Amino acid sequence: MADTAESLRSLPLTDLSEDERGFRDVVRDFAEEKIRPLVRKMDEASEIPRELIDACFDLGIMGVEIPDERGGSGATFFMSILVVEQLARVDPSVAVLVDVQNTLVNNAILRWGTEAQKARYFPRLASKWVGAYALSEAGSGSDAFALACRAEERGDHYELTGQKLWITNAAEAEFFIVMANLDPSKGYKGITSFLVERTFPGFAVGKKEDKLGIRASSTCELLLDRCRVPKANVLGEPGKGYKIAIETLNEGRIGIGAQMVGLAQGAFEHAVRYSRERQQFGRPIAEFQAVQFELAEMATQIEAARLLTYNAARLRDVGLPFVKEAAMAKLFASRAAESVASKAIEIHGGYGFTREYPVEKYFRDQKVGQIYEGTSNMQLLVVAKQILGKM
Ligand SMILES: Cc1cc2nc3c(=O)[nH]c(=O)nc-3n(C[C@H](O)[C@H](O)[C@H](O)COP(=O)(O)OP(=O)(O)OC[C@H]3O[C@@H](n4cnc5c(N)ncnc54)[C@H](O)[C@@H]3O)c2cc1C
Repeated sequence: MADTAESLRSLPLTDLSEDERGFRDVVRDFAEEKIRPLVRKMDEASEIPRELIDACFDLGIMGVEIPDERGGSGATFFMSILVVEQLARVDPSVAVLVDVQNTLVNNAILRWGTEAQKARYFPRLASKWVGAYALSEAGSGSDAFALACRAEERGDHYELTGQKLWITNAAEAEFFIVMANLDPSKGYKGITSFLVERTFPGFAVGKKEDKLGIRASSTCELLLDRCRVPKANVLGEPGKGYKIAIETLNEGRIGIGAQMVGLAQGAFEHAVRYSRERQQFGRPIAEFQAVQFELAEMATQIEAARLLTYNAARLRDVGLPFVKEAAMAKLFASRAAESVASKAIEIHGGYGFTREYPVEKYFRDQKVGQIYEGTSNMQLLVVAKQILGKM
């Protein structure tokens, strides 16, 4: 039986329904069999092979919430969280590619897209088109609504001019949700969301960043030079882009929480395995109580991060308020990932500090969790506003 919002309501947070368990296990096996063997190579090449992206489409994880009749998996937001977690356990770069597609791009169209937009884009996004979400610019990150990208009305179309920075998936994407200001005199109320295809005239993908972590995930600049966008490609209404951005990012950051939970779990499993194998003073280091306590601390942090993340996702699926919980989940899970990945290196001793073992990569990959989709300070700001607003 398919999950309904009502049936999800009574589940303990980590007790998965049959559908959820089935989906999670399929993704877990996929990550082990198809992704694990490629992880090191993808990190070194700074690239996710197209065949692997196609395999993600074939598995149905690029359109988790897209309805069946539009080619998607017709599942819940919570399912996409499970997918991201399982992918990140093996490779946080593949996880963020799938995360952006589901929790930002598909999600925004599900909520604000017209029937015509859904009819054109969902079958593509579920089967072959990678999507990207373009809000940030060189001069506007945390202060996202200070964006300088301009949109101008030109009869039957708009022209977009400006630059975007840090755009995840941009190297692979065929489709971009781009925020630009249609009327700067109205401040943030001029910001409008546009659905932009890579082939639209005046659109180009620029320089790719050379990053500390999630190196296989592309992060690029976008160049818009009087980019011609049909009027029908406004998402929602003109001037409502700020609302779309706030609301999609509120949900998207649960996905980053899941990415960080999966990452921490992956690093933790390596640490447990190694602690059983590595012998010092004539016995496995797992027999030393100090090492056992480290593992117990790590497991506790992961459990707490997972509970926060699952709770935020389940609240969102049943239509209850989740904004504070989502910000807490991302804040806590990204800190937990940093701490767990760091301890995993320590448990590996000198070997953990080399590229011969996988834990150094988890440590590099985790840092971005405290930066993208709102820095940790921005999450604290959201939590504080929610608390004080309700006093
Ligand atoms: C790998 C990667 C992928 C990304 N992918 C995307 C993407 O797909 N789409 C997209 O639109 N963006 C993306 N981003 C951009 C990301 O969302 C921004 O980097 C982030 O919002 C922070 O903005 P900034 O880098 O300009 O830092 P800044 O805003 O300049 O922040 C610098 C520091 O100042 C602090 N700070 C700023 N303002 C305040 C304040 N009011 N109070 C307290 N502290 C403050 C911040 O917390 C931070 O510590 C990505 C970034 C990275 C690194």
